[in-house]
Amino acid sequence: MAGRVEVIALGGTIASTPRPDGKGVVPGLTAEDLLAAVPAARDLAEIRARTLVNVPSVEIDLPLLMRLADLIQQLEGEGAAGFVITQGTDTIEETAYLLDLLHTGSSPVIVTGAMRNPSLPGPDGPANVYAAIACAADPACRDQGALVVFDDDIHAADWVQKRDTSSVGAFWSPAPLGWMAEGRPALRFRRPRRTPIFVPKGAEVPHVPILKPGLGEPPHLVTAAVASGAEGIVAELSGGGHASAAWADALEGAAGDIPVVFTSRTRGGRVLNRTYGQTGAEIDLIGRGLLPAGDLDALKARLLLTLLLMAGRAECFADHADLSWRTGE
Ligand code: ASP
Repeated sequence: MAGRVEVIALGGTIASTPRPDGKGVVPGLTAEDLLAAVPAARDLAEIRARTLVNVPSVEIDLPLLMRLADLIQQLEGEGAAGFVITQGTDTIEETAYLLDLLHTGSSPVIVTGAMRNPSLPGPDGPANVYAAIACAADPACRDQGALVVFDDDIHAADWVQKRDTSSVGAFWSPAPLGWMAEGRPALRFRRPRRTPIFVPKGAEVPHVPILKPGLGEPPHLVTAAVASGAEGIVAELSGGGHASAAWADALEGAAGDIPVVFTSRTRGGRVLNRTYGQTGAEIDLIGRGLLPAGDLDALKARLLLTLLLMAGRAECFADHADLSWRTGE
């Protein structure tokens, strides 16, 4: 049998049960309860279960995730071979990426959840937990950082996105790393690990808002973000990274004092660097001091910028944002 897998539960739909008053479901099941629904998982590895919090995933914050990253490091030092984190699906793409940026070890950190709560016919939680434990225990998933295992697909943390409100196949990435075949992970490819980000203990979490302009919207949000003490801004712009002239002026003003990153609201592909020449397009924005987010979407760019600000290394943003293999710009 493989080494020990630590299952750490944080709540979410996978752990939710109906409220007595009939007004929907809320998190309540523990990690032990989740494991009781998949007895066969005990044949895959020695398993230890703990429930860190039991919350809807929008209540997960950076201090909690840093505590979790520390716990993972400590348990790996004590001999754990792999980790399964169960949580609400709404923020899995952020949690997984943050854990990926912080994870210093070789052990697989597998994040999963469920779209159907356990009171519905055909809940997907047990199958996802089984697949996640199989991945956490398998040497093929070592040195791959954090992965999202869901609906029998295996996604890299930096690419994965939730793309549907209710489908059991809600998770998407441009190129999933692999899939589950006969109860075991089958990886199409392995990805190189990036250097983890070291965040000093006690560093304050900075305010880094995401600003997304709609058609014809004046840039009041930029003014408001700066006035509210933003220490960085992520602008989620149209197409390849295109702002109106008014937004470009406002963002340039902010970029004089704080890092301003731009991403694409398409949530697919890379932001452009050198194609469009109009005012407010990528060439202009880069010339005004804005940072292109490479392959990252706004949610992930915000987490990367946040951690780099905490580490005092915001100037390294581009090194971490570029995920695809390319020859020089
Ligand atoms: N509301 C849930 C959450 O905590 C949704 C889910 O788990 O699918 O994110």
